[in-house]
Amino acid sequence: MAQPKIVIVGGGFGGLAAAKALRNVPAKIFLIDRTNHHVFQPLLYQVATSVLSPGQIGSPIRSILRNQKNTTVILGEVTGVDKGQKCVFVSDADRQNVSITYDYLILATGVSHSYFGHDEFEEFAPGLKSLADAVVIRNKILQAFEQAEAEEDPARHRDLLTFVLVGAGPTGVEMSGAIAVLIRSTLKKEFRRIDPASARIFLVDMAPRVLGPFSEDLSKAAKERLESLGVEVRLGHGVDQIDADGVVVAGERIASKAVIWTAGVTPSPAGKWLAVETDHAGRVRVEKNLTVQEYPEIFVVGDTAALDQDGKPLPGVAQVAIQQGRYAGRLIQRQIECKSELKPFRYFDKGNMAVVGKGFAVLQTGKFRTSGFIAWLAWAAVHLQFLAQSSLRVSVFVQWVWTYLTAQRGSRLIVKHHCEESGVTQAHMALGKAVSSK
Ligand SMILES: Cc1cc2nc3c(=O)[nH]c(=O)nc-3n(C[C@H](O)[C@H](O)[C@H](O)COP(=O)(O)OP(=O)(O)OC[C@H]3O[C@@H](n4cnc5c(N)ncnc54)[C@H](O)[C@@H]3O)c2cc1C
Repeated sequence: MAQPKIVIVGGGFGGLAAAKALRNVPAKIFLIDRTNHHVFQPLLYQVATSVLSPGQIGSPIRSILRNQKNTTVILGEVTGVDKGQKCVFVSDADRQNVSITYDYLILATGVSHSYFGHDEFEEFAPGLKSLADAVVIRNKILQAFEQAEAEEDPARHRDLLTFVLVGAGPTGVEMSGAIAVLIRSTLKKEFRRIDPASARIFLVDMAPRVLGPFSEDLSKAAKERLESLGVEVRLGHGVDQIDADGVVVAGERIASKAVIWTAGVTPSPAGKWLAVETDHAGRVRVEKNLTVQEYPEIFVVGDTAALDQDGKPLPGVAQVAIQQGRYAGRLIQRQIECKSELKPFRYFDKGNMAVVGKGFAVLQTGKFRTSGFIAWLAWAAVHLQFLAQSSLRVSVFVQWVWTYLTAQRGSRLIVKHHCEESGVTQAHMALGKAVSSK
């Protein structure tokens, strides 16, 4: 009998967990992702702030699954699903909309940034979702110091050295704390014309407190910690405007050349591909066994799925995606092996953590809450444990110890294609083209 074909779209937390759960199943599994790597997103902010290099938090999906003989990894972008014909359409470097059929389909395509209807902000305020985004933000932060050092007019230093982070959730809090530590310790002795410690960091959010998903006391502790690091926290007002000169918040302009978007996200178009019911944000509403209504062979897991538990929507966090991916894999395995169905999916919440600067984190699990150094150690241990490969665990651990002891960071390189590097270079290229065309 022919083996069933299982297509998994997305090699993030959900898709990878599903693939691993299916490792012993007699089936042909295809994992399709538009990038060749799995990213440990909770540490993206450390790449953006130069602590770690991209290769320390990302691994080739092919390498992670190299011992899983039943699984083929395909680099390609899924553009649609035909539920009737049971196939997905995939585009790659030289082919468009190639159809790949399935018996079971798991969609784990995550989210992307949302500028809440202001897509024009994106040009001036990059968001943080991928390794490429992290490198863009790293360039932006490091470039600001270089530009200020090169600038003779001290009056311009202030604007060049003003950083604005829009969104005071975990990413905004972690990144603003990390920038504060960067400027007050790592960069301290390296500049001659400017004092990096004079840089200003604003964290802006329309919410009344930072770290909305955490309890009020932890949120207060995080805000106090940020303020002690010199971060100016502006709450209760969203940004009205973001442009090349900075942001406008509650009618006040904050001049800045380095604005970073750490606010909203929007789900992948999986709901549109499937043309099924979604929640208000566009996440696919799934049944209690994570399948799509009337299509028991289609599963949607992770950030792009909407499921309520005890009357509340499950959060868009890695643990939900991992547990859902694992559940979908196990359920498919039981169906293939003609075993009884699983109980409905139930998320086991292991808690929330966020780092605020050096040696300080907030931790909340059930009714237990703590903040400070012990919470930071717990945060470090948990994050090391969940990195995709043991080589990364060793490398990140060594880097963290080194950074903790010496304040030196792992990757402070401004990496751009030479065409992007300066207007001068671009002008030269344009001149070169004009000359050669004569
Ligand atoms: C900066 C940041 C910090 C975070 N910090 C934390 C944290 O501290 N703790 C926590 O629990 N969670 C955190 N999260 C959230 C967590 O990373 C997500 O909840 C989790 O990644 C969701 O897993 P997923 O599998 O649904 O999606 P992802 O892990 O995002 O994976 C989606 C995959 O699908 C691929 N893909 C998307 N569209 C297509 C397509 N059309 N075709 C092919 N492939 C496609 C993508 O390339 C990607 O590999 C953070 C997220 C970010 C962005």
